[in-house]
Amino acid sequence: MEDEPMLKIRSRTDCPCGTEKMYHDCCRPYHIGKAQPDTAELLMRARYSAFFFRLVDYLVSSTHPDVRGKDLRAELDDVVDDMLWRKLRIISKSKGGADDKKGKVEFIAQYHCDGEFLELHERSRFRKYKGQWKYVDDKG
Ligand SMILES: [Zn+2]
Repeated sequence: MEDEPMLKIRSRTDCPCGTEKMYHDCCRPYHIGKAQPDTAELLMRARYSAFFFRLVDYLVSSTHPDVRGKDLRAELDDVVDDMLWRKLRIISKSKGGADDKKGKVEFIAQYHCDGEFLELHERSRFRKYKGQWKYVDDKG
């Protein structure tokens, strides 16, 4: 996959996912397909960063095919522009390690939407598909 110029500019900034790494050394390799997250938590962080940068392609491709509805892209396109993400805090996780097949990550993500400050508190479920972590749903 070719690098998008947009991503190049952003690669020198702090990664929005909160690891205190540069974006270049954190979630970017996942976003451009150069690496795959080893753990459910890393995928969770990469998806948060993808929401932050409005990378709808990544949000679609990192969703498990079993739950990837045909309207998913349109649904994401509808909401990504309205949300300004501020902070991600991982609360807890279970399984989701490199050798696991399933995992859960509980997090709080703070964002602004229509001038309102909001918090998303979710327990996400993740499952491996062909050896790669994918997002399933928020019913963990
Ligand atoms: Zn990151």
